[in-house]
Amino acid sequence: MLSIVVLGTAAGGGVPQWNCGCANCRAARNGRPELQSTQASIAVSADREHWFLVNASPDLRQQITETPALHPRTGHLRQSPIAGVILTNGEVDAVAGLLSLRESTAFGLYAHQRVLDILRDNSIFNVLRGDLVPRRALPLNAPFALPLIDGTPSGLTLEAFPVPGKIALFLEDETDNGEGDTVGLEIRDDTDGQRLVFLAACAEVTSPIADRLRGADLVFFDGTLWRDDEMIAAGLGSKTGKRMGHMAMSDTIPALAGLDIGKRVFLHINNSNPALREDSPERRAAREAGWIVPADGMEIDL
Ligand SMILES: [Zn+2]
Repeated sequence: MLSIVVLGTAAGGGVPQWNCGCANCRAARNGRPELQSTQASIAVSADREHWFLVNASPDLRQQITETPALHPRTGHLRQSPIAGVILTNGEVDAVAGLLSLRESTAFGLYAHQRVLDILRDNSIFNVLRGDLVPRRALPLNAPFALPLIDGTPSGLTLEAFPVPGKIALFLEDETDNGEGDTVGLEIRDDTDGQRLVFLAACAEVTSPIADRLRGADLVFFDGTLWRDDEMIAAGLGSKTGKRMGHMAMSDTIPALAGLDIGKRVFLHINNSNPALREDSPERRAAREAGWIVPADGMEIDL
């Protein structure tokens, strides 16, 4: 059985973002605390004893504190149920939380070689001792059995795959197609075959991506923006969603209809997104199309 805890739901900056005065951030500070959310991360387990984090957000310390499943087990002075951390990219909102896991407890660290290179080149990440926190490069399109730190099977199989996300980078630098900068993940329960697909950044549903998503029991999908020009329309930025590697919810909903997906959950939701508000027409449209806009701490058992 796959068990998932949504540790955080927000895009980089969280809600409210420290320097943001948009309507959602203002409401989150003033009278609408339910809008507050931490930066995107999930925890996944096959046995509810050992957990793998997908991304280590800057809010990880707070997320662990608020998630009993991730607390040290009774009777141990130093212990953690966190068996590993899987990184889907090397951005601050995916890796900064590693610095909060520095107190000499072993776990496995998995990322594409390009992301491991970023960690290697930033010496601050040496707080994760190499003898305790082995770093393993994730190949693309090659499933492997995810081990616990003692080498025994976790009951999960992990596969990373490339996602369309860096179109703009590709256009700006033709020598580098950005492959590996952002990956999607497929995580499968070895016992019952249930399968989740994690795509917290995705610029386009290409046919290989549709094939990945088809028939999945659970999908976490890029929920950064409701509409492609949202940041521009709100006066918060000059880039479209596509330009930032994010497909808008309003385009995702029809694109994923008909792919026979069990549960569909938006993740990495930017504070500009009107679907954050339970009472908004955008939220209603997402809900009526079968999509979940989660709150921090939401648990899903498949
Ligand atoms: Zn804001």
